[in-house]
Order: sequence, then structure tokens, then C-alpha cells
Amino acid sequence: MYVNMFISKGSQVRYSKPTPAFFKLFLPLFVFSIALLFSCSSDENIFIIPSDDNDLYQVHFIDVGQGDAILVTTPGKTLLVDGGWQGSGVDQYLTDLGISKVDIVIGTHPHADHIGGLIAVFQRFEVGEVIDPGVTHTTATFNNYLTAIDIHDIPFTVGRKGMERQLSEHAYFEIIHPINPASGHLNNASIVVRVHLGDIKVLLTGDAERESEQSMLSAPELLRSHILKVGHHGSRTSSTMPFLEAVQPEVSIIMCGRDNPYGHPHSQAMQALNAVGTDIYRTDTHGHILIETDGTQYSITTEK
Ligand SMILES: [Zn+2]
Repeated sequence: MYVNMFISKGSQVRYSKPTPAFFKLFLPLFVFSIALLFSCSSDENIFIIPSDDNDLYQVHFIDVGQGDAILVTTPGKTLLVDGGWQGSGVDQYLTDLGISKVDIVIGTHPHADHIGGLIAVFQRFEVGEVIDPGVTHTTATFNNYLTAIDIHDIPFTVGRKGMERQLSEHAYFEIIHPINPASGHLNNASIVVRVHLGDIKVLLTGDAERESEQSMLSAPELLRSHILKVGHHGSRTSSTMPFLEAVQPEVSIIMCGRDNPYGHPHSQAMQALNAVGTDIYRTDTHGHILIETDGTQYSITTEK
């Protein structure tokens, strides 16, 4: 079961018109959560979602400050895309959710704000597979990341455009970038995945910059998504208009730290996002951001 500690503190937005199917899915959860509130002996409001019975999916944009960490849960498998810096607390976040196994981990690229926190995940959890772009970096963090994969004997796959993994009966992800990355520009080596949760599509772009966006535009049919994890923490190096117009996101999520030294998100990226009319959520102002979906409609809940 998944326990979520923040759901009742922040705000919630639903991206759907209520339908009988919607109520069928969420009304029991609502009743259950109300019952739970009354049964809690502590002051903490804890929302528990029964697993396995429904096609219920969650995407957690975990607030790790200036870095990325995105957890996708399905009735079948669990996917973690990046882990923030070393000491980001992403391992504790997973533990608090009651997770003991992470089926697939993607390290989008070797920068420390993406793979640092994965080292603790490899040490603490059973991990079924690691996928990364197969490019190298000279830092101690990257060395420790490789060593942890090796020590724990975790199956390793070099991720390339065209690969897919099934997550549950109606959920899978496809890798849409890179084709042939170089170690000379690590951001543009980023693995980009589009996650399909029923009919809902979520595009996770790592730190892919404009060159990568241009390359991905050669297959625009792979880009259109309901939800976009904005590239490179909202930097001006990413979020070009042609790319955003191809994605047409209803919701865009920027993962960056409060008062970060890079000035993320940059005004150019914000203007481009506003120009395509997407709703914008930011981990620096909203904290953890949770998207829940039954594969048809989705809701967004923020910590702050
Ligand atoms: Zn980054």
C-alpha cells in the first residue's frame, strides 16, 4: 500500500469533468480517507491508497531541491527516474510510501543532481534494472553510482530511442531520446521517456537541451503529452517553442530548488511555457507534486 504524507496539506486540482467512472474510482478512496482521518490517533493526515485492485497510477515529482527525482507507480511495476543529489532523501521518500522494490531505475544522465541520490536507492532497495545513456563522467559521484550498480549486481541496460518497457497491463514507457549520445555534452545525452498510463501521457525530459529537442522533433508524434517535466530545471537552454508546440502539455512541471544559483527557471522558458497555455507547477514553490490517474482523467495534488 502507498502512504502519502502530504496529500491533505496542499491544494488539489482535477483535470477532468466528473463522470460516473470517475466517482466509481475515487469516491471509495474519498470515503476511505475521511474514515481514516477520523481513525488517526495522531495529528498527521495520512491518505492510503489500496493497490492492485484498479488501474490506478501515481507520478510523484519529488521535491529534492535543485535536481530531478520522479517516481511512477503502477499496479505492476515501479519506475524511478533520477534520484536528485546524494543525500536528497529520495530513498526515505520511497520507504515512507512502503516501497521495497524498484523495478526499473533510469539515470537520465551522469550529473550529480540526477544520479547522486540513486546510490542510496541501490544500497537500500531491491532494484530490477538500471537504464542509463551509457556515457561517462569523471566525478566521484558517477564512480560511486557505477560501483553501487556493480556491487549489488543490478542488471544494466544502455537506453536508446525505440526501447520500451511494460509497467502493467495498460502502462508502459518508451525511450524517445537519445539515438547516439556523446560524453562531450552530458545534458544532451539525457534519456527522455514518454510514460503511458492508460491514455494519459507523461513526458520526462531530464536535462535535454535545444539540440535534443530539435532531434526529437524528427518524430513529433512521439512528443504529444498531457504532462511535461520541463527540460533542465526550466533553463533557457531548453523549452524551445517548436518543441513545446509539439508536446502541447496541459500541465508542465519544473523541478528546481528555491533561490538556486542558476536562476532557474529562466524567464525565457517561463514565457515559452505561458505562450503554449500550459499550467505550471514548480517544486521550489509547490514542494512535492503528485499526479494520480485512472488512465483517463488525472488530478494534481501539491504539498504546498
Ligand atoms: Zn540537472
